[in-house]
Amino acid sequence: MKKWLSALLLMVALACGVDAQVIRGGMPDPSKPTRPPAVDYKGPAGSDIPNLDVVKKQIIAYHDSGKWDDDISKITDDARRHLEARRAAVSKPALVLDIDETALSNWHYFNDHDFAVLPGPITKWLSESRDTQIAGTGNLFRFAVSKQVAVFFITGRKESLRAATEKNLENAGYNGYTALHLEPEAYKDESVIGFKSSTRRDIQAKGYTILVNVGDQESDLAGGYAEKTYKLPNPMYFLP
Ligand SMILES: [Mg+2]
Repeated sequence: MKKWLSALLLMVALACGVDAQVIRGGMPDPSKPTRPPAVDYKGPAGSDIPNLDVVKKQIIAYHDSGKWDDDISKITDDARRHLEARRAAVSKPALVLDIDETALSNWHYFNDHDFAVLPGPITKWLSESRDTQIAGTGNLFRFAVSKQVAVFFITGRKESLRAATEKNLENAGYNGYTALHLEPEAYKDESVIGFKSSTRRDIQAKGYTILVNVGDQESDLAGGYAEKTYKLPNPMYFLP
């Protein structure tokens, strides 16, 4: 190829954002690992739909880099400060925690199953009580227990998973909580909001003041009955 034509093609390629190394026909530089595009990646035909494989790689990088845990810890530290500031001002202070992707991490399940929520395998996984503690939430939990703030777990897991869930909470270091509320088998609403908010209402009816409610889904937090709510990041799934 003529030199001027090569130079012209290279300039065009650079203008289009193509890696000059590829255009030059060189091997990829191993010191520069291939990274997925940034989060503003545009999907097919210019739509805003992200590419599923790219998103999976981004989630793995978010987890493996420690950034996910760091983001959670910043939020749970804020929640701890609110408990600290308010706990003495009410007679029965309380903390409400969701379980999955809030207190306990299902990372190993999702990583092993390519992020698919498969009813059979995920029920089997949950019944094995192998979830690990999410560190930021663990710190918040221990702070609450040490300061006589009552801790209530409210989860969309069904009542049939009670024994496995109690065992998993214990295995992961959550000891000393006041109560664990699981979704009744008969609850059929598509959204958990009705179950979770009515459970918080019942807790407050017993004289508790829920100072802090923490969850990874907006539906964990909607419906009131908490002084402050804290939403943790979860890029893996959405629950109404
Ligand atoms: Mg959750």
